[in-house]
Amino acid sequence: MTPSPFERLWHTRWAVLGFGLLLYPVPTPTGWRGLASSSPDCQDLFTTFCQDSALPSSTDPTGAVWSENEAFDRLQTLRRQLSPQQLMARIYSHDRVIEIRKTEQWVRQEILRWIERQMGSSLNLRDRKELRQRILAVRLEIPSSLPQPPVLLEHGAFYESHKQGKPGLSQIRLGGAYVLGTTSQSNWVFTLAHEFAHSIDPCELRASGWTPPAFERLNGCLLESGVIQTPNDRHECVTRDQLSEVFADWLATEILVAWLDQYGREYPTPQRWALVRNSVRDLCPPPNSDYDSEWHPESRTRINRILGENPKVRNYLGCPRSDQKTCRTDDQ
Ligand SMILES: [Zn+2]
Repeated sequence: MTPSPFERLWHTRWAVLGFGLLLYPVPTPTGWRGLASSSPDCQDLFTTFCQDSALPSSTDPTGAVWSENEAFDRLQTLRRQLSPQQLMARIYSHDRVIEIRKTEQWVRQEILRWIERQMGSSLNLRDRKELRQRILAVRLEIPSSLPQPPVLLEHGAFYESHKQGKPGLSQIRLGGAYVLGTTSQSNWVFTLAHEFAHSIDPCELRASGWTPPAFERLNGCLLESGVIQTPNDRHECVTRDQLSEVFADWLATEILVAWLDQYGREYPTPQRWALVRNSVRDLCPPPNSDYDSEWHPESRTRINRILGENPKVRNYLGCPRSDQKTCRTDDQ
């Protein structure tokens, strides 16, 4: 089978990386030797992923994810040193934009494939068509000139619905600090899949007066599992509700699993851990920060429960299955 442009790019990149490693052997990172001989903590991925000393990110073969503080500081330094045009070329370099676009294309196609796999009682033909249209209507906005703050300084990605409740054009924007500080492909996959997922999240669909039965089932399971906090003043999709964010993390995990299956099988265990860690590295809370509990579950829940209880993620890492029930769109 002819490899897609994305696959070609991936293999080329890896071949170059592999050649580089032959010429310049990289010393074993501090603390890694221990992890190679004893399994990292399958019970608490949050701590393993979010403590710098626990799992060096340098072992991710696809790239790195700088912390929010590091990305912000480096961006501020570059702002002082470079002209706006130079800074634009540095953040949104030609090569990086090409790679992000390839990842966008792959993620969009994988979500469309995921929708198609939800057959029969899960999603009927009309539901699938509607969801497909929504995914196809999302545009990833990459600016042609340097964006202004706050977008320039943001270390994250954003989904913006242009026509609330209708499947019109909507867009994903990537903050400048995020683009500058993230080269890990697994992170791009998780991040873009999370933002794409917002175009079909339960609250976005409900705004148009429509919720497929399969999604009702999934929402009920996510609530029952306790990953969504339910304070007394919670009003679903209106105030203090984490449903749409949990759904976006849940679907992003499904898409990440497909990506790991396609591109990550060849890697040994330490690199597998680094790939999964970097996919959610930016969910780790910066030191002394408050998290947005109104819409997002806390980072520990996002990493340990939504990502960390997925059976395929656990299998990929060599971890035993979680005894928690797995939420799905079908009724099995
Ligand atoms: Zn989100």
